[in-house]
Amino acid sequence: MTVQLGIPQPRDGTPNASDTAVPGVPPRRPGDAPPGLVDRYGRRATDMRLSLTDKCNLRCTYCMPAEGLEWLSKQAVMNAAEIERIVRIGVDRLGVRELRLTGGEPLVRADLVDIIAAIRSNHPLLPISLTTNGVGLDRKAAALKSAGLTRINVSIDSLHEETFTQLTRRPFLDRVLAGVDAARDAGLGPVKINAVLMRGINDLEAPSLLAWAVDRGYELRFIEQMPLDADHGWTRKDMITAAEIRGLLSDDFVLSPDPRARDGAPAERFEVRRRDTSSAAGSGSVGETDGPLLGTVGIIASVTEPFCADCRRTRITAEGKIMSCLFSREEFDLLGLLRSGADDDELARRWQDAMWVKPKAHGMDHVGLDAPDFIQPDRSMSAIGG
Ligand code: SAM
Ligand code: SF4
Repeated sequence: MTVQLGIPQPRDGTPNASDTAVPGVPPRRPGDAPPGLVDRYGRRATDMRLSLTDKCNLRCTYCMPAEGLEWLSKQAVMNAAEIERIVRIGVDRLGVRELRLTGGEPLVRADLVDIIAAIRSNHPLLPISLTTNGVGLDRKAAALKSAGLTRINVSIDSLHEETFTQLTRRPFLDRVLAGVDAARDAGLGPVKINAVLMRGINDLEAPSLLAWAVDRGYELRFIEQMPLDADHGWTRKDMITAAEIRGLLSDDFVLSPDPRARDGAPAERFEVRRRDTSSAAGSGSVGETDGPLLGTVGIIASVTEPFCADCRRTRITAEGKIMSCLFSREEFDLLGLLRSGADDDELARRWQDAMWVKPKAHGMDHVGLDAPDFIQPDRSMSAIGG
């Protein structure tokens, strides 16, 4: 095995349970756990995030360096048939109930529509969603819908051209906005919008982003910035916390907990009503109800209010490595095993072994991240698949 410095090392070799032992973790033995992707803390992964590519046409400051990254070779990345097979094993054998395609930027893959069509023909009822930066979506939305895509998430951090360009290092806001509208018109709703707030750059835009989203029937989800940028520029004091986000919205909106069950969703959802500024009642607290319901907003507080105990995700990187957590230091090579001629049983077992050792929690909430004992993962978000 060639050792690549800076990238967590895949585990390969004979695919039996004892082979995948991680120091300090008892290996999974047959019969230890019911079938499916369960871990030693009793969580069951049913939500699969599969990265189609590590490449991207934007350079968001919280994700990629300005010069980009060293891209994987075409040969190193899963091809369409390999993706189809891995998804089939996940769904048919391991209890995957939901698929999210991501990247890098999934729209840069020329065979994206064919991949979705193939997965859809194998799994007529599987919810398949796509997370995209929206560049080029205006031209592809209808074809994605016809191929069988269920829903879409588009990332938009700012509605101001200058700020958008500063954050993504590309002047593509108009194209992205055209893409979101095309997705809605193609029937890829409910459209979700992902936004990361950066202090002093777009944080004060939180209320106008929400007003824009609810006006159009889009569900906005604010994501706390995580230490997953390739530049390693994240600091705790600079990140905008979920509490701050609620505060930023409270002058204009009243947020009340969404009564629907969270059901393992990473976002904590709130119902959104406009604050009646004529009333003296506005205290800014969550839970009041002013005015008619406008929509919902989600806040993904991975750092300050983590949801690890109810995590249902299993991740496959573009080069076919299983990651049980965004912050895993351990990866398990599924694609290498597949290419070596392994059968579906062996592949399923490797996947179960990888999930068995899923960490209990990422630890970002209680470890002093600026302290030397927190190790930021070597992979950036784009190289994992967010
Ligand atoms: N390129 C697509 C996009 O931007 O939507 C899909 C991949 S991107 C890695 C998926 C999501 O991760 C995006 O919504 C992006 O904003 C988010 N993201 C990237 N880096 C992040 C970070 N350091 N912290 C929090 N979210 C991040
Ligand atoms: Fe690309 Fe998405 Fe990362 Fe932005 S967040 S650089 S669009 S992969």
